[in-house]
Amino acid sequence: MATDIKALRRDFPTLAQIVNGHPLVYLDNAATTQKPQPVLDALNHYYRDTNANVHRASHALSGQATRAFEQAREKVARFIHAASAREIVWTRGTTEAINLVAFGFGRHFLQPGDEILLSTLEHHANIVPWQQAAAATGAVLKVIPLTDTAELDLDAARALICERTRLLAIGHVSNALGQVNPVAELIRLAKAVGAVTLVDGAQAVGHFPVDVQALDCDFYAFSGHKMFAPTGIGVLYGRMEWLERMPPWQTGGEMIKTVSFEATTFNAPPFKFEAGTPNIAGAIALGAAVDYLAVQDRAALMRHEDALLRQLVDGLDAMADINVIGRPRAGAVSFVMDDVHPQDLATLLDMQGIAVRTGHHCAMPLMQALALPQGTVRASLAFYNTDDDVAALLAGIDKARELL
Ligand code: PLP
Repeated sequence: MATDIKALRRDFPTLAQIVNGHPLVYLDNAATTQKPQPVLDALNHYYRDTNANVHRASHALSGQATRAFEQAREKVARFIHAASAREIVWTRGTTEAINLVAFGFGRHFLQPGDEILLSTLEHHANIVPWQQAAAATGAVLKVIPLTDTAELDLDAARALICERTRLLAIGHVSNALGQVNPVAELIRLAKAVGAVTLVDGAQAVGHFPVDVQALDCDFYAFSGHKMFAPTGIGVLYGRMEWLERMPPWQTGGEMIKTVSFEATTFNAPPFKFEAGTPNIAGAIALGAAVDYLAVQDRAALMRHEDALLRQLVDGLDAMADINVIGRPRAGAVSFVMDDVHPQDLATLLDMQGIAVRTGHHCAMPLMQALALPQGTVRASLAFYNTDDDVAALLAGIDKARELL
């Protein structure tokens, strides 16, 4: 049975509004997604009915909050098929999750001459923390180049992965170009030389199911706000062996077992990595987003999104003055218009109620490799987008062309 996208859209109040005199066409989902009513309700319910701190008190409200908070952790573990909820560390988002590993693993396990392997397609969040870890330890960054079609060059990756490779840190889906990287194959190659593996899943989890055990990665990072949950909450999945070996990232309350002025003993993972009062409402609402996705026919939503993406790419390809960058497969489609600054085109689209993003998309090395110093225009989809949204964007570009 076909999923009724128009009905699903009614779950997302933000989508039903007029922007600049036009019905909103929201195509900036790679930056952040809109939130369905059950996620908004979960936030509201926590603050209105069960607001209390977790883990510490013996009173009823704290018990309720703690149960909801830990249930959310279990939901997330099931969502990405982690072996245990104890492998789910709450963070502020993907950026903090990667920084946690760059500190806990990077600063403590990398040696001078060890190689950290990234790709040209990475978001700054999966570059800068490794640069810092390399500077602190004497490790060296190696970068997988692009093919002629702006895709990750797997042959070059095969040549780069060697016994010096200590860590592979790779994006699952490129936020800038919407390409799906061959992460399973890269992880297999990295493991064969004994390297540790981290996947930046920020742009994957909102688009297709992820199974961290099937991927066999050591770490998987993502943000709630890119999968229909609030900002300020994210996840680091870590294989238990590594969570046990890594030192804590921040220290203070919640992450300890005992404290005296002479010595402190740390709590077990994941609590060892969760110093201070966590984002309780955010975690519970992320659990609600997982519940929301769990009752959808995800295969049907993926087919729908895929059809929209094809429609969008075909429509853009049919325009002689538009150049689609790379081979988009999930979420984002990046393009440039001949002799037009991306920002000018985006402003004219915004005047028509169409939200897209422009610039380097936090991927300056990628834009440099593509010789696109002004960046691109990026339209990014979620399952609640429709044929009408794609048609509005294509018509909006035609209209902008007339005005330019
Ligand atoms: N990695 C990728 C691929 C992203 O797209 C983003 C956000 O755009 C991030 C990391 C950083 O996510 P956050 O800002 O939620 O920490």
